[in-house]
Amino acid sequence: MSRPKTLRKVVAPPNFKGYKPYGTHAGTRDSVELLYEEYEAIKLADYDLMNHLEASKLMGISRPTFARIYETARRKIAKAFVEAIEIKTVYGDALLDKHWYVCDDCQTRFTIPKTIEEHQCPLCKSEQIELLNT
Ligand SMILES: [Zn+2]
Repeated sequence: MSRPKTLRKVVAPPNFKGYKPYGTHAGTRDSVELLYEEYEAIKLADYDLMNHLEASKLMGISRPTFARIYETARRKIAKAFVEAIEIKTVYGDALLDKHWYVCDDCQTRFTIPKTIEEHQCPLCKSEQIELLNT
């Protein structure tokens, strides 16, 4: 079986197109572009409070790659906050599938093809996975 090009999975796409600061002096056209995979890294690590290993598995990438994406994401967000500039989310390298699966045991949502082929949850290895949408 050939190994596909690494796909940086986004477990769930963001619910927004971007963030805009308010109450700042107008005029700056500057913005930071946050990739979906960077959004996802922040969400998994800082919102879902996963450790980097778990998060990297969910995204289908290595732990060092996850750490790099996460670091980039934090720096972009910090820049946006400090300089009061817009954050734009862009598609990036992430793969957004139509088909979402949920693990009945740990409630993880995922779209990782390899895991789906094996009928396994990427986190807890449960085989109780269900297609969320069609
Ligand atoms: Zn699971």
